[in-house]
Amino acid sequence: MKVDIRKCARCDGDHDDLEFRPFDLPARKFTHWAPCPTNGEPVLMTAKGATLEEQVTTIIVGDLRRNGPMAQLIMATLMKETAEMIAKDLVTNGPIRHAMRNL
Ligand SMILES: [Zn+2]
Repeated sequence: MKVDIRKCARCDGDHDDLEFRPFDLPARKFTHWAPCPTNGEPVLMTAKGATLEEQVTTIIVGDLRRNGPMAQLIMATLMKETAEMIAKDLVTNGPIRHAMRNL
């Protein structure tokens, strides 16, 4: 991935479109690195959403921001109630009558 670097940690300069590559084994919190074009020393970076866990968290947080916690709660409750209704109907009426009622 290409990143614009301002005040490089290795040489204090600016680098445009510096190509970062992922660590094979991430070094603590850092996920990517690139050699500084001035002195060749590694510039370390943590890419947001680099791990699967971070990607899932980003999706959940995005959904909460878009729909709000109430909407998510209502959706979960509705799905649970529907499942319970179907289950109860199946027990009361049996699968054939349940299927006919829902035609
Ligand atoms: Zn540099």
